[in-house]
Amino acid sequence: MDFALTDEQKDIVAAAREFAEGEFPNYMEESDENEVFPKALWKKGCELGFVGVFIKEEYGGPGLGYLEDALISEEFWRVDPGCGLSVLAATFGAQLVQLFGSEEQKKRYLAPLVEGKAIMGSGITEPDAGSDVAGAATTAVLDGDDYIINGNKMFITNGSIADYVNILCVTNPEEKNRHRRHSVIVVETDREGFEANKLKGKLGIRASDTAELTLSNVRVPKENLIGTPGNGFKQFMEFFNVTRVHVCAQAVGAAQGALEKAIAHVKSRKQFGQYLGAFQANQFKIAEMATRIEACRTLYWRAAWLLDNGIQDHRLVAMAKWFCGETAVYVANESLQIHGGYGYLREYGVEKYYRDAKILEIYEGAKEIEKIVVARAILGRMG
Ligand SMILES: Cc1cc2nc3c(=O)[nH]c(=O)nc-3n(C[C@H](O)[C@H](O)[C@H](O)COP(=O)(O)OP(=O)(O)OC[C@H]3O[C@@H](n4cnc5c(N)ncnc54)[C@H](O)[C@@H]3O)c2cc1C
Repeated sequence: MDFALTDEQKDIVAAAREFAEGEFPNYMEESDENEVFPKALWKKGCELGFVGVFIKEEYGGPGLGYLEDALISEEFWRVDPGCGLSVLAATFGAQLVQLFGSEEQKKRYLAPLVEGKAIMGSGITEPDAGSDVAGAATTAVLDGDDYIINGNKMFITNGSIADYVNILCVTNPEEKNRHRRHSVIVVETDREGFEANKLKGKLGIRASDTAELTLSNVRVPKENLIGTPGNGFKQFMEFFNVTRVHVCAQAVGAAQGALEKAIAHVKSRKQFGQYLGAFQANQFKIAEMATRIEACRTLYWRAAWLLDNGIQDHRLVAMAKWFCGETAVYVANESLQIHGGYGYLREYGVEKYYRDAKILEIYEGAKEIEKIVVARAILGRMG
């Protein structure tokens, strides 16, 4: 087994780091403070080829792997999670289109994302169906050649800025198996009856747009259905096997950024006549943070490598997702602790990791749900 990055991957990492370190500081404070999506930054990210690297050449992308996509995300989140998410989540949903869409759908929806001409989202969560994805109640009813969609979606990333959104809808309500009732339909956001209400006051990742969606008799041609009717739940689960690996990289990046702040601090601040790094308690903190980050990085590289070799290991992905998310929260907390009162101040830049990291234990499956997936894979269903 080869754990080394190729020269091309090393170049991608270096370029992503240079871009994030050079550009993010121009946007991160303002977008965090005012909850504004950094549109110009996203455009630059597209121009430089960082967005949608997993999209195949025939659909307008460079045709790299999910590992390369994750490596970019790690570098972006290391500098600033909010900006990193805003730039890269513009393709959130493209993975599903690439996996299950028709040739025509892939050509229509994927290339504009790479070119910086469109932003995408995915609407799964509803006010009454969060962790219980199969409980989604938004309906899509056939009327001639169109679906008529009605329902509400909650917490949708890019909801108020997206050009199109994958919507999980019930199309087969008569089906006894609740996991076979849904389909995925792409809804263009300029259709009549589509409304987005931006959610404000988030704890972290405030640069990223999050919205509540209302769909009232939205008419969509039936050609917008992705994959097979009744397979929407399964398709989204496969989509999450891909995107959760990306979330792991986000977590490792945020943790790495917070660790680097802690290292710099223990080497520069003195108490009791010694650098903070001379105290064993702080040395142990640094050692534990670094060890967990390495373990997480190895875990997500392996999960990404498997994906790029055509293997979806949902158990491994779920393990990686909860462990990486928890590690990011742990490291951000420890880094803030090492900074003492200074960590509590915005200008030291550590409280932001603390706020931003928390989402990694919640979105794309709360960590308890990931543990249920792991336990079921090991024990089978026990009730
Ligand atoms: C900033 C942000 C961005 C998001 N982006 C998107 C997006 O783009 N698209 C989208 O569709 N959704 C998105 N989400 C929604 C996100 O995926 C959900 O918030 C998440 O799945 C949890 O659902 P919930 O909030 O309804 O919590 P609930 O399902 O109500 O769960 C609440 C708590 O109970 C625990 N819990 C629930 N069920 C169980 C169980 N069976 N066993 C043990 N514990 C359980 C959970 O772990 C959680 O901690 C986003 C959320 C946020 C905050």
